[in-house]
Amino acid sequence: HSAVDPWPEPEERAAEAALRPSTLEEFEGQPRVSDQLGLVLSAAKHRGTTPDHVLLSGPPGLGKTTLAMIIASEMGVPLHITSGPAIQHPGDLAAILSGLVEGEVLFLDEIHRMSRPAEEMLYLAMEDFRVDVVVGKGPGATAIPIEIPAFTLVGATTRVGLLPSPLRDRFGFTGNLDFYEVDDLQSIVTRSSAMLGVGLDEASAHEIASRSRGTPRIANRLLRRVRDYAQVNNQGRVDLALTRAALELYEVDPLGLDRLDRAVLEAICTKFGGGPVGLSTLAISVAEEAETVQEVAEPFLVRLGFLMRTPRGRVATEAGWRHLGLTPPSSGDN
Ligand code: ADP
Repeated sequence: HSAVDPWPEPEERAAEAALRPSTLEEFEGQPRVSDQLGLVLSAAKHRGTTPDHVLLSGPPGLGKTTLAMIIASEMGVPLHITSGPAIQHPGDLAAILSGLVEGEVLFLDEIHRMSRPAEEMLYLAMEDFRVDVVVGKGPGATAIPIEIPAFTLVGATTRVGLLPSPLRDRFGFTGNLDFYEVDDLQSIVTRSSAMLGVGLDEASAHEIASRSRGTPRIANRLLRRVRDYAQVNNQGRVDLALTRAALELYEVDPLGLDRLDRAVLEAICTKFGGGPVGLSTLAISVAEEAETVQEVAEPFLVRLGFLMRTPRGRVATEAGWRHLGLTPPSSGDN
């Protein structure tokens, strides 16, 4: 497991839960989404209704689950958490919906991975707070309408483009979460270190923030790894030199690239002459799933300006070559 994988490791769920901000006030960064969502919630409180359905999009680890929890706690209602892959039959969804209490927030992670029939049931539920349960088979089948409590759906997806537009259109508010600025990540790391009782100086917090690929989940994880390293090697004391040594041990480079990122970039440059190379060929050459290359390594390499996606495939940029200490072919340096 890479230290900068944006998906949660199963054993870190509890550690993560302990660091979750519980109000919008404590939620760092993402000022646009935070302000707009605050308005949606205040308006709903004012009217005494449930807030509009909320769609949150963005890469893993940026705070979608956290925001769903904040919405429920700010509205003073319970939260039910489920995910697209868990809902394959419309019956699964009907059971969840009819079990909600009035006003409850339903968090549906990876909403783009729900089955088609379940998705169609969701349309009606979102619009009319009603589901049609089909009873019987063949010509004798009848749809029985069932009223469900008013609820707020918070859907999350890593890529909003994967959602069919009839589903997208049924959300009253869409928040697109973006990678965090280093300053915001530094505040998150500093807050987390106080909660964990780790004495962290500003330079170390900044160093962790800079290597966290714009992702709070990674920032909190690197902080925990640095803490462990300090406990074993330095009686718990953290300083910049120790932070760097720890992150080097975990193979996170100064820009936050890990082994896979470097492997991908290196493969493009050294095996495919800088590209273009197709995703599946590239994935095979680094012995990784195409999905992982596409969703984990690439967005970050693109963001750093090290890689470009072109219609003909992936291409390493001049900056990409240079980051690996290689000379780009067209640069005329040699
Ligand atoms: P997602 O659902 O998008 O994968 P999570 O909501 O589970 O991400 O967040 C991952 C971790 O990062 C959690 O421990 C959470 O506390 C922390 N986190 C995310 N966003 C913020 C933020 N804006 N401020 C503080 N901590 C955050």
